[in-house]
Amino acid sequence: MTYFRATDPFPLESVDHTKLHEFYARLAEGRLVTTRCTMCGTTSWPPRGFCGECASDAFQWVDLPCEGTIHAFTTQDTGLPSGFDGPRVFAIVKVDGLRIFALITGANAAAVKIGQRVRLSPLRVSDDPKGQPRWLAAFMPA
Ligand SMILES: [Zn+2]
Repeated sequence: MTYFRATDPFPLESVDHTKLHEFYARLAEGRLVTTRCTMCGTTSWPPRGFCGECASDAFQWVDLPCEGTIHAFTTQDTGLPSGFDGPRVFAIVKVDGLRIFALITGANAAAVKIGQRVRLSPLRVSDDPKGQPRWLAAFMPA
C-alpha cells in the first residue's frame, strides 16, 4: 500500500527526516527503546530529542522491557487506513512505568481486557516515499 504524502498516516522515520531515526531502526529489530537525558537522567516516552525536565539535548538510547500490561484501550471499527482490516484495538500499554500508545494486533477485540499482558510485536506499515521500510510500535497478547 502506498499513500499520497498528504494523506500518509505514518511518520517519516529515516535519518533524513528525524534525529530519532534510531528508535525506528531498533524497532525493526524487535527492540523497544526510548531516550534518557544524560544531564538529569529523565527517561522520556515518547523518545525526545530534548529533555522536557532540563531542556538538554544530550540523550542516550535505553532498552525497555518488551512486555507490559494494557492500562486502557479502545477499538476502531470504521475509518481505518487503507489496507487495514477492522476492528483495530488501540491501547495505552504500561511498560516499565511508561505509558505507550500503541496498536494491539492479533487479538480478538471483544476479549481485550485492562491488565492483560502484552508483548512487543512491531508492525510493518507502508514504505516511505523513498521506499524505505517503516515500523510502528505494536503489541500482541502475551
Ligand atoms: Zn534532562
